[in-house]
Amino acid sequence: MEYDIEKQVKQTIEKYHLIDDKKEKVVVALSGGKDSTSLLFILHKLGYNVFGLMIDLDLGDWSKIHNKNMIEFCKTLGVKLTIVDLKKEIGHGICFIKSILKKQKNLTGCTVCGIIKRYILNKYARKLGADKIATGHNLDDECQTVLMNFLKGNVFLGVNSSPVSGEIGTKGFVQRIKPFFFVPENEIKKYSLKNKFKILYDKCPCAIGTYRVETRKWFNDVNLSSKEKLKIVSEFQKLIPKLKNKNQQEIRECEVCGEPSRNKVCNACKIFECLK
Ligand code: AMP
Ligand code: ZN
Repeated sequence: MEYDIEKQVKQTIEKYHLIDDKKEKVVVALSGGKDSTSLLFILHKLGYNVFGLMIDLDLGDWSKIHNKNMIEFCKTLGVKLTIVDLKKEIGHGICFIKSILKKQKNLTGCTVCGIIKRYILNKYARKLGADKIATGHNLDDECQTVLMNFLKGNVFLGVNSSPVSGEIGTKGFVQRIKPFFFVPENEIKKYSLKNKFKILYDKCPCAIGTYRVETRKWFNDVNLSSKEKLKIVSEFQKLIPKLKNKNQQEIRECEVCGEPSRNKVCNACKIFECLK
């Protein structure tokens, strides 16, 4: 039987209460790739109140093409799109930030990018009055995260990975939802190709030689079936409440910027400190 991606998204939204009311303002974080583009398309088709939010990472032609594609895509759907220019926002492009962090803290690749993206998405989604931020993370991403944390010898790192993160009402924090949490990546790709979305399928040019890229290679070689991936992710979800009790860190305000943080100073501000 053919996989029904729209049905799976609907089920996840209902079961985990990702969006309880069609009036809720859902900001979809758009990278320009197949996952977030398909997500915006499906949520819009299901009648949710969606908006697009994209960070221009200033990665040359790659960013320019992604921006152009998303402007056209949102226009066709009649969805409002906001683009935040990273360089204007924090004074540097992502490659520069990564190179400084590599030199100073030996922090590599996708971790730095993830911190910066989360910081900007939260700040702008809040400015836009969003109730939720939806990202295109899929089953393969989640499965890789579970296995990666295990390989790092620290399963506790996954304590906050779930289809919905953060409590409603935490000051300054816009809840993040992942409607593709249980959807395998190949099904999203099929859907995107079937619908002939005008997008790029290339991986991020900046993600070279990072731990995540290495894990992804290994992950693809292991060649798990969708059923096996689903089992790994679902079983880990059952474990989270047990892990949480012992390791719960409250979200509070960062002492420097006031954005929500699990520590005194948020990870983004720690990065900004290195750029001074
Ligand atoms: P990635 O970490 O690149 O695999 O992206 C995971 C998710 O984060 C995507 O599906 C998007 O929802 C979001 N995202 C990634 N890059 C951007 C970006 N430049 N602007 C806005 N959202 C993004
Ligand atoms: Zn901060």
